[in-house]
Amino acid sequence: MAPPIALRPPSAPRSPPSASPNRSIFDFRFFSGIALGCVITTFLHNNAGITSFLADTRVSGNLMSGNLQQWRQQIMGLVTKNGGTGDDVRKRTYCYYGGVITLDDEDTRHKCFTLSPDRGTFERVFTPDDGPNIGNLRVELTDASEGKYIWYPGTAVPGFWDGHGHVLQYGEMLESVQLFGAGSVEEVRRRVKEYIKQHPGAGTRENWVRGIGWDQAYFDGKMPTADDLARDPKLEGLYILLDRVDVHCTWASPAVLSLLPSPLPEIPGGFTPSPGIFCDNSMTLPFSFYPPPNSTTLSSYLTTAQSHLHSYGIVGVHDASVPASTLRLYDALADANKLSLRVYAMHECSTRNSFCLNDPHEVPPHRRNLSLEHQIHHLQSTGHPILRAVKLFSDGALGSRGAALLEPYTDDPTTSGTLLVTPEHLTNVTTSWIQAGWQVNIHAIGDRANRVALDALITGLRSLCTNSSSSSSDDDDDDDDITTCIQSHQHHLRTRIEHTQIITPSDQSRLLTHHILPSLQPTHAISDSRYALSRLGPDRLTSSAYRIKSFLRPENNTSNGIVMGSDFPVESPDVVAGMRAAVGRRVY
Ligand SMILES: [Zn+2]
Repeated sequence: MAPPIALRPPSAPRSPPSASPNRSIFDFRFFSGIALGCVITTFLHNNAGITSFLADTRVSGNLMSGNLQQWRQQIMGLVTKNGGTGDDVRKRTYCYYGGVITLDDEDTRHKCFTLSPDRGTFERVFTPDDGPNIGNLRVELTDASEGKYIWYPGTAVPGFWDGHGHVLQYGEMLESVQLFGAGSVEEVRRRVKEYIKQHPGAGTRENWVRGIGWDQAYFDGKMPTADDLARDPKLEGLYILLDRVDVHCTWASPAVLSLLPSPLPEIPGGFTPSPGIFCDNSMTLPFSFYPPPNSTTLSSYLTTAQSHLHSYGIVGVHDASVPASTLRLYDALADANKLSLRVYAMHECSTRNSFCLNDPHEVPPHRRNLSLEHQIHHLQSTGHPILRAVKLFSDGALGSRGAALLEPYTDDPTTSGTLLVTPEHLTNVTTSWIQAGWQVNIHAIGDRANRVALDALITGLRSLCTNSSSSSSDDDDDDDDITTCIQSHQHHLRTRIEHTQIITPSDQSRLLTHHILPSLQPTHAISDSRYALSRLGPDRLTSSAYRIKSFLRPENNTSNGIVMGSDFPVESPDVVAGMRAAVGRRVY
């Protein structure tokens, strides 16, 4: 039902599965040996351990001044080293005044590493006896030769993992019309025309123009229409499909509309706020006519995305929407030795919110061994993605009023948003996947969607304790034994709520009690600030929305695990901007 390359609504990444309670916000240890060896990212701030970086207000308090560029210079330099070659060990060795943080529990800090002459992987990590002893704050931004090795400013840390992103869609975005920040419908048309000029032949029935990034907040809050896209003679008759910035709505040209049935059918969980705009489940209408790119094009989306992600210091991604077709592309790239990105995949059934495990076209039989050890071995020996998580959806997004709220929208009291499925269906599907041993990651933005997702996960986990899947939510959760049992299954399965964006304090407390993991994208708080207040009103915004640090226990800043990501291409994958948003609620 979903088109193969449709830009999809925000979905969920997945956290390192072996993490134990009380672990820090970012924990890369599970992937040690995987992350190291691809890209080295350098902190220009000594000792900015990522945990303290986000959780310690004393650290973050010092970072609140300056713009993003200054902040980046103060904190981290994103100095990418591709690895030296040849026999000269000195040239292949990188020493950092601030040290080299490794993923080895026993041997965490060193000063230098040497890359292998051929592959750029780590040959040696060590601390020389004769290294300089210089305080990090005084290092200069120029290379300095001291003793035997070349010393660099900053601290080298292992490559980053983004906890929630969409790799194929990011690659597609990079190769399509960029509409982010387009200040008017005219500006959208101008960018589309510019794209067509550079891509002759784009816009035909076989080769639609695709784009992403528009936001009606820039069009005086008015949703555009199909006719707006044909208002320029140069665009008349062209097949154009442009996704909203949150990828929860798409904007079709009249040529695309002409393919659709008339009148348009009602799609449960979808809506069409203006002629030519399709939101959430309704997006399947235009996408069902979208001529899918061939596998060569799709593979190039993946490799384009991969190289951009590496340029941000990202070595691994929890890919939040991986249908079977994308899994095959990943596997083929890995087999051809072209996949340097490590991928933790969340499977998405071709029919959204379904249980498709038994369909061999969905989950290949050889992929059904969920043992973590097996999966890690498989990844290390083949480069194929890890696959033991499934992605489900509870609602849409706030900007398009698709987020399901408990109370009506403040700026449109006629609606409370849309649940994409009934709570009963979501609970049943969630329970089926949990009973099959899969990690379930549910997209939820609104406070109603979060409640429904939480109910589904708790019910699913509890079914493992009682051996029966009760349809009620968590009426008996004050039973300590049940809660302990749920926690223990959750410790193994690590179910997640993706976005956890607007959640009541009482549900947040239930989430913490059951150790369910929130998966957060701090930059959403920045991007949504244009309309969050008008959509939610001051009380709801204050009590329930974008509560990032409150997912930590106040007494000691620990948690059961918090996943952080960017949700690229909805947001930039820039890790620094994400940390900036997490710490300071701003990115610039
Ligand atoms: Zn997403």
